[in-house]
Amino acid sequence: MPQPCSIKDCTRTPRWVCDCCQQNLCLQHLNEHNDLLISQLNPLTLEIKALEDCLQALNIQKTIDNSREKLEEWRDDCYKKIDCLFEQKCRELDQVINEKVDQQREELNRIHLKITELIDAQETSRQDIDLLTSTIRQLEININNIEQICFTIVTSPLVIDDTFIFIKETTEHELDLSTLSPVYETIHRPKGSSGPLTCNDRYLLIHQHPNLCLYDREMNIVKQTLWRYVNNTQNIINTDQHENTAHG
Ligand SMILES: [Zn+2]
Ligand SMILES: [Zn+2]
Repeated sequence: MPQPCSIKDCTRTPRWVCDCCQQNLCLQHLNEHNDLLISQLNPLTLEIKALEDCLQALNIQKTIDNSREKLEEWRDDCYKKIDCLFEQKCRELDQVINEKVDQQREELNRIHLKITELIDAQETSRQDIDLLTSTIRQLEININNIEQICFTIVTSPLVIDDTFIFIKETTEHELDLSTLSPVYETIHRPKGSSGPLTCNDRYLLIHQHPNLCLYDREMNIVKQTLWRYVNNTQNIINTDQHENTAHG
């Protein structure tokens, strides 16, 4: 006698092992189980719909804007550096030409004064006239030459590397220390060196007892000077550290 359907009180012949409960079921109970499974699809559809709405409503613009702002800051900063160098080189050009013009103007004034003096005194010599005439000829040549000056401008193309900007994903308010760039160089700091340091794009200023040192981007010391004003600060720092340790 074969086993009946696994459902309690059902005497019908089992037809198949049900996919959801792994029991031997009759055709009717198989259908019931199948309908039950299918009915679970509708709530899933609703969940999907809700998620679709949620995705639609995401405020991605805010996320993009915040990061874009950072990129724009970088761009503005680069533009400023280019503008600054451009202005500096323009001033250099102006200066070279203006110096030459000023030089000729001074020489003109000097000769003019000399002639005025001779006229006022109503006295001159052939030698004076010859000398003045040749000086004026030379000035004429010099002044005309100013317009003939040309500059050779040698420029290097600005090489911008993709690694200048690194985009890494983090969740909001997450302090991710791995976003810090890897250790570039370790500086040995002798005992007695104080904490304060400052830097700009090119240099790092740091106290290396007993000196104040200026490091370049390759971490070479480009300048150092004996620093005698640090002792008081150092004591304060040491005291603070000591107190922190004590409380900790
Ligand atoms: Zn089943
Ligand atoms: Zn059954």
